Amino acid sequence: MRTNHKQRPTRYRDVNLNGTLSAISGPWDRTVCFSDIRKWMQCPGMYLMWKEGDAIYRRSLSQEIGDLVHQETAKPAQDRLQDTAEIAARLKNVRPEELQVVAQQVKALIAKAVRVSDKESIDAIATQHERLMVWYDSYTNTFWYAQADKMEILEDRDGKYLSVVDQKTGTYRKALDVSGAFFFGYVAKMTKALNFDGPIKTMVRYLKDFRGQILARPFERWEWIGRHLKQEQKDMLWSIQETVKRMDADWQSGEFRLSQGNHCRGCQFRHTCPVNKEQFAEELRRDAERQKERETRLSLVVIQGGISTPVAPMAPPMVATTGAIINASTNGDGSKTAAFA
Ligand code: SF4
Repeated sequence: MRTNHKQRPTRYRDVNLNGTLSAISGPWDRTVCFSDIRKWMQCPGMYLMWKEGDAIYRRSLSQEIGDLVHQETAKPAQDRLQDTAEIAARLKNVRPEELQVVAQQVKALIAKAVRVSDKESIDAIATQHERLMVWYDSYTNTFWYAQADKMEILEDRDGKYLSVVDQKTGTYRKALDVSGAFFFGYVAKMTKALNFDGPIKTMVRYLKDFRGQILARPFERWEWIGRHLKQEQKDMLWSIQETVKRMDADWQSGEFRLSQGNHCRGCQFRHTCPVNKEQFAEELRRDAERQKERETRLSLVVIQGGISTPVAPMAPPMVATTGAIINASTNGDGSKTAAFA
């Protein structure tokens, strides 16, 4: 589910002696979406900070691109973003020198997503984008919120079915993606989404390959949910429910473990996380230094015979390909010095 990130207060929490964070709110509202489950599985402390509304450092670029593509796909054709400059204006996490290139890539990704989605929906009996569904799961005594990118009733030679699509704009393919699609499909089944009571086809659609290239034909993983769940689907449901029960146990105790690992690198709470904030501040400081060095190297380049050579002898060779020349002058030895924007 999309969240308004603007009103989240910055909180610096203390870590307890047992390595947990304490909840500051409660009791739990007993609502769960699949993104909550995914966060909790990575790090219960991260889930707590998300759930209690702590300020996030910033959305990652991949998240920003994903949101933009989902929003544009859901719009009527005439309202969609077409212009590279407009797309660039919506991207907040890109360095200025890379903005044009990234905006063009996003434009191509939107065009691809829209083409695939529109083609699929031509013969749909009913279509809904990002429809929120809520199901009360009595086993866990929780409310399950699910919002698939697209749901529609389609028909093939075997009859009508409900298609539930979860579209991915990133490069990674994770096992949990399939569980997420099952979660959407299960909630759609139990709530009889679009007033449909027949078979459900859940699909995870990947628009890019592992290297980040847009696929000519998206890679799709799909499953059917019929009247009765298959054994592996029962197992998946059970593991989701057991996870929710463990989340519940954390809320009962009021303590959420901080689980460190590679995922910390992409965590949106690293700037306030008590076990990572100092390292994060140090990384920011080093990034700022590197950026300053890059800008210094770009601002002074000696151009000789059409090949660029950096002024500083120890700097790596570089050909300036971005930025407009804003100032150029001829030196006494015939070489040229140029300043780039
Ligand atoms: S930085 Fe790591 S340990 Fe801290 S909240 Fe994020 S994922 Fe958890």
